[in-house]
Amino acid sequence: MEHPKTLTEAIRFYADAANCVAVVKEMRWPDGEPICPHCGERRHCWLAKQMRWKCASCRKQFTAKTGTVFEDSPISLDKWLIGIWLVANCKNGISSYEIARDLGITQKSAWFMLHRIRYALANGSLEMLGGSEGGPVEVDETFIGGKPKNMHMKARLKIKQGIHANPKMAVMGMLDRESRKVRTKVIPNVRRDVLQAEILNAIETGSTVYTDGATGYDRLLLNGYLHQTVTHIQEYVRGEVHTNGIENFWSLFKRGLNGTYVAVEPFHLHRYADEQAFRYNNRATKDNPLTDYDRFMLALSQISGKRLTYAELTGKVGETESW
Ligand SMILES: [Zn+2]
Repeated sequence: MEHPKTLTEAIRFYADAANCVAVVKEMRWPDGEPICPHCGERRHCWLAKQMRWKCASCRKQFTAKTGTVFEDSPISLDKWLIGIWLVANCKNGISSYEIARDLGITQKSAWFMLHRIRYALANGSLEMLGGSEGGPVEVDETFIGGKPKNMHMKARLKIKQGIHANPKMAVMGMLDRESRKVRTKVIPNVRRDVLQAEILNAIETGSTVYTDGATGYDRLLLNGYLHQTVTHIQEYVRGEVHTNGIENFWSLFKRGLNGTYVAVEPFHLHRYADEQAFRYNNRATKDNPLTDYDRFMLALSQISGKRLTYAELTGKVGETESW
């Protein structure tokens, strides 16, 4: 079957519930045959009228949504899919107000939907960046927040009343220059031990690490990395020695945060960072001409096995990744 290429085509295509189930089925179960999310059984029958399967072993029913970020949501699958299409393909982020208007759902539902999509886009990759042969990686941190206009009313009020300090949050970013992939992490502070631990976790020893002159990076050589330091006072870039790639990513990230998102609260920051990193890492390049449909399918492939409850989303409980 021809797949949709544009947003208009996607809206038309996924208006058919059977197409929605087919695409989710394809992404969740590689051989296309559903596996019972309750007990793992492969035998089942399809209840066409209810658009659900019935497990031949535990006799429980399940849908394409069960066990995914769509579960327990009253929003229909076609709206979810278009929501994913919008998030995967917008340039600088999309607000819950825009999603609500585009999909004809409430802003509250749209907010919930957006956060679940962002959760699915989180990069869970365990692959190391760089390479033992001196693979180049740019590392940099940035600070987000502190501007009351980016905060929720209640948070703003608490800051005004002096109950909370005005928080500035540190985000660490690493860009592998060869694969052109970026990875982000919200970190508690920019002390040496924190920065070093993140680098050791994510970058292969023997890689060339490009950073600014911050003292937090001064022991990279001792840890087995080649280390090149950028001095921003210099008016010119010393050949390869720069962090322009990751700085470019920060500016995209900040443009998204300031221009589109109405309220960014501290415990959601990593989700916005994940969302921006997903688009950056899956942008079209000469060697890798990804289309809107490809990005949509990549986003969709990450739904399986990820589930986030409202309590987890609002910061009351830790995240769980099991189903
Ligand atoms: Zn079962």
